[in-house]
Amino acid sequence: PEDKLSVEMDNQPRQVHHAIWSATPPTPVSHPTLLAYSSDVAALVGLTNDDVQSAQFAQVFSGNQPIEGMQPFSTCYGGHQFGHWAGQLGDGRAISLGEVVHNGVRSELQLKGAGPTPYSRRADGRAVLRSSIREFLCSEAMHHLGVPTTRALSLIHTGDDVVRDIFYDGRAEAEPGAIVCRVSPSFIRFGHFELLAQRGDFALLKKLVDFTISRDFPHVTGNAHERFNQWFKEICASTARLVNEWLRVGFVHGVMNTDNMSILGLTIDYGPYGWIDNLDFGWTPNTTDAGGKRYAFGKQAGVVRWNLQKLAESLVAVAPSQQSLIDGLAQFDEVYEQQLHATLAGKLGLLDWTDTDDDLINGLFSWMQALNVDYTEFFRCLADVSEVPLLDSVTPAFYHPELLTNERHRTTVQDWLSQYAQRIAQQSEPHEMRKQRMNAFNPRFVLRNYLAQQAIDAATLGDLSVLHELQAALRTPYDDNPTFSHLYAKRPDWALNKAGCSM
Ligand code: AMP
Ligand code: MG
Ligand code: MG
Repeated sequence: PEDKLSVEMDNQPRQVHHAIWSATPPTPVSHPTLLAYSSDVAALVGLTNDDVQSAQFAQVFSGNQPIEGMQPFSTCYGGHQFGHWAGQLGDGRAISLGEVVHNGVRSELQLKGAGPTPYSRRADGRAVLRSSIREFLCSEAMHHLGVPTTRALSLIHTGDDVVRDIFYDGRAEAEPGAIVCRVSPSFIRFGHFELLAQRGDFALLKKLVDFTISRDFPHVTGNAHERFNQWFKEICASTARLVNEWLRVGFVHGVMNTDNMSILGLTIDYGPYGWIDNLDFGWTPNTTDAGGKRYAFGKQAGVVRWNLQKLAESLVAVAPSQQSLIDGLAQFDEVYEQQLHATLAGKLGLLDWTDTDDDLINGLFSWMQALNVDYTEFFRCLADVSEVPLLDSVTPAFYHPELLTNERHRTTVQDWLSQYAQRIAQQSEPHEMRKQRMNAFNPRFVLRNYLAQQAIDAATLGDLSVLHELQAALRTPYDDNPTFSHLYAKRPDWALNKAGCSM
């Protein structure tokens, strides 16, 4: 009999000291099958469509057969979760295959769900199909919306079941397992720095800072002090831009902990994320965040600022001075405010932002929340409003248009529209031009929670058509494409109050 050679490797979960990574072979899966891939990510790393469709691809990108040159590893990081230091976390279910440089672009290839690592703690190192579909679709959707993000190359069904608690009473169910290969120039997180600082391993912390600057910020120049200062300022600035991009498109990350913060200001770790349907700054998709206190849509800027503060604290021992860190955080505040005004101006189609526009936007957000108005739909409708404002132009964005039969509500909306019409009239810009600008800024298509759920439900029954259709639609999120018009619909009633699932 042809026995497969098998030895029992020791990859026990453990505390890893004085190192930032561990060599970690993926654990093979039974029947890897490719369910979806992104051809532009394939091209980015130098793979053709034929390469991806070859039988070997699923073997390599499920972790079954790493190829020559791949040296799989997982990394060691910590983090503040829910406002508290959580100790060593690390890549519990992420294994990097290594880095590729193609056409001068560096990409790290990382499998999510390829088996246990030294950082798996009490968990299995695996990912289920539903969370993998969510990550695969959403990271590609964000990229095409123009929001900084890690990318996704492939989605592979493993052929093995994974057991997860999915019921509130703690019952568990076997679900299909999957592996996403995610791609990013860097997967370094705030938590990598924090862990070393918490352990007092300042020599390694210094090494990591120098490594990150030279690999991930090669344009940063000057002497050591200048380099550090510019580096930290850039982290603060890109984080400020990121959180405004989430506001622009209506994205709620859901677990904004320091271990989920990318040093490059990318959206990373798609867990219980969600998209805003009716505008609600208090909404969070994270069911463990009771009352939306920390991870709600309207709390994201505050929580990323807090996370940057934690990063700054962890860099005290290696920063040229405290002032470097204070200046960096001030940079966040400055860029944040500037970007916030640019974002709000863009959403309203204003060419600049003046002080009185604060009232205009506050008034709008206030009645949009009170009257249950869809965020995405509304700003597309608003682009159609001209100097003669018609209530009818915005009613399609209302979940309960019957509210407008109430005179008080109708007046609130009418008055606001008149105020808006006056404001845009001041710009003396042809209506069509403003409309074009607004429709290039406010998406027509976002990956609403119910859409991802439909793709998951169909894929679980073996039907990949919904998944593939969403993949096509998310590539042109600003177009009004009749082929995809059914995917632009507001959240249907049956999908109300359904939160995103994470594990
Ligand atoms: P998250 O809240 O998803 O960012 O995860 C926090 C930590 O839990 C990270 O260190 C993850 O790697 C780890 N983790 C989450 N799910 C699993 C899993 N199924 N197996 C091992 N580690 C996991
Ligand atoms: Mg994470
Ligand atoms: Mg996660």
